[in-house]
Amino acid sequence: MTAFAADSILVFLETTAAGELAKNSAELLGAAAGVGTPVALVAAPGEHLEAFAAQAAQAGASAVLSAVVESAILTGQLADALQQAYDLVQPHAVLLAHSLTSREVAARFAVRNKLALSVDALGVQRDEQGVIASHSIYGGAFSTTSAPTFGAPVITVRVGSIEARAQGQEPAVTALELAGGTTPDIQVLDLKKAESNSARPELRTATKVVSGGRGLGSTEQFDLVYQLADALGAGVGASRAAVDAGFIEHAAQVGQTGVAVSPQLYVALGISGAIQHKAGMQTAKTIVAINKDGDAPIFEIADFGIVGDVFKVVPQVISALEARKAQ
Ligand SMILES: Cc1cc2nc3c(=O)[nH]c(=O)nc-3n(C[C@H](O)[C@H](O)[C@H](O)COP(=O)(O)OP(=O)(O)OC[C@H]3O[C@@H](n4cnc5c(N)ncnc54)[C@H](O)[C@@H]3O)c2cc1C
Repeated sequence: MTAFAADSILVFLETTAAGELAKNSAELLGAAAGVGTPVALVAAPGEHLEAFAAQAAQAGASAVLSAVVESAILTGQLADALQQAYDLVQPHAVLLAHSLTSREVAARFAVRNKLALSVDALGVQRDEQGVIASHSIYGGAFSTTSAPTFGAPVITVRVGSIEARAQGQEPAVTALELAGGTTPDIQVLDLKKAESNSARPELRTATKVVSGGRGLGSTEQFDLVYQLADALGAGVGASRAAVDAGFIEHAAQVGQTGVAVSPQLYVALGISGAIQHKAGMQTAKTIVAINKDGDAPIFEIADFGIVGDVFKVVPQVISALEARKAQ
């Protein structure tokens, strides 16, 4: 049987039906490599399992555990697979993405094992007692560190927050035979990916995001947000006020009661910067704000700010970007 490193960090990787690991996989393995030896778990229907394992090794997993499950969205089965991997590896910590599926797997797994669950971490470090997680809380007003007093921490990591990447490894794969008790109490009879008629990057994983707020004024005028997003190759987000006004669907809401994003670039157009909005975006690497009110709180966290009318400033920004592309 494969021996696992004493400082193993077990990393649960999500898979897609298209045969690719979720985009955040390299980040998670990068985070794990900073505090120990990354061991990846890929659990999916058999079809692409070999490809997933190869991708995990390429992204830095020193060892890969693979488990056949009926569906990559049945979190009960995924938690079963994680349990088996955990028992085998005895890791110092378990890392998962702070995504819908992984959050559920993390919660099920942590409860079953009475392990501490640290959610929405922006990074992981090691101190003399073990692996600890760092967080930004209360709308970014405080930075905190969480550490369990016993056992391995189960940590969900915010997508986009880790820049480190692990070195590619030769695939060393161990197949897990899932023990009994894994019979699903739900069956997936049909699975269809929601049709997206947009070629824009998905908000949660986009490296650039342009968001619009109430300052856009109307659904028609919100089109300016899409125009700038397309000029930058960015995903589109919004404040709750813009969502409540019906300018865009709720899935685009960034903030405390929406999506938390951590892109390389976040552009806020006509957004005041309420604490609940900041909670979902202030860990972005570079924040640009355009607002006609020079006292708007968004400027307190912006790296670059333009005090001006979005309808005057943004068309000029788009022209400048297009002129640069044409060069
Ligand atoms: C429990 C709770 C949860 C919440 N969750 C969220 C959340 O998840 N996400 C979220 O965003 N909010 C959330 N909110 C709401 C939040 O408090 C704010 O009301 C909201 O973020 C305001 O959105 P806004 O900045 O678009 O609108 P406003 O605060 O009205 O700001 C509009 C801004 O546009 C500027 N502006 C107007 N016209 C122009 C122009 N032509 N050019 C340039 N600038 C212009 C104005 O100067 C102003 O600063 C929550 C609130 C509560 C109580």
